[in-house]
Amino acid sequence: MNNCMYCGEPKSARPMWSTLFWPERLTSLCESCASSFPLLTNQGCPSCMKQAGSDICSDCLQWETSDYQAVLDKNVSLYSYNYFIRDYVAQWKYRGDYALGKVFEQAFRQLFQRHFSNQQYFAVPIPLSDERMQERGFNQAAELADFTGATQIEVLGRKHGEKQSKRSKRHRMRADNPFYLLGESPRYTVLIDDIYTTGATLRHAAQVLKENGAQKIAACTLIRG
Ligand SMILES: [Zn+2]
Ligand SMILES: [Zn+2]
Repeated sequence: MNNCMYCGEPKSARPMWSTLFWPERLTSLCESCASSFPLLTNQGCPSCMKQAGSDICSDCLQWETSDYQAVLDKNVSLYSYNYFIRDYVAQWKYRGDYALGKVFEQAFRQLFQRHFSNQQYFAVPIPLSDERMQERGFNQAAELADFTGATQIEVLGRKHGEKQSKRSKRHRMRADNPFYLLGESPRYTVLIDDIYTTGATLRHAAQVLKENGAQKIAACTLIRG
């Protein structure tokens, strides 16, 4: 393929040196697209990677005084949020284009292995509801979980309901937990999703596992929104 899989422009103008850094991306994306993903370079909040200084952020402090205290150890992400990655991920998710997700494989695996190689962690993708899965035929979180190299288990189900993004943050924190357990909860779990925004979805999922015997639960996400 001589054209960029995403924008359709010819790829021929890319400099040779860049293949050293992004070998996988460059097989399918042009230089301009490949360099538009906003890589997180600072740790930010040690608990969630929010880019606001190097102390525990106010969101995390709030979580730790709520019903969700000590449910989620930490979140790590690969990218921050910008318009480019927003549109790219939308196309990947809603069109179910597996190849668009594939460009994240190497970097996502490295992120996972850098943070979660010291325990026998299982990768648990945040599920879609059955209805949503039927509609799309594709769960981007499961594709990301494939990339980690860890054993992937689907122990969570998800009730179908109102889209969370339409609710206020306050409402979201109080909303009924949409997740339920399908199998045995692993002791060490890394939840996998495409984006960490408020952290509510991941904490709902973590709470179900924690109540059912999980010891340690963290999250590994593509984007820190
Ligand atoms: Zn392109
Ligand atoms: Zn934080």
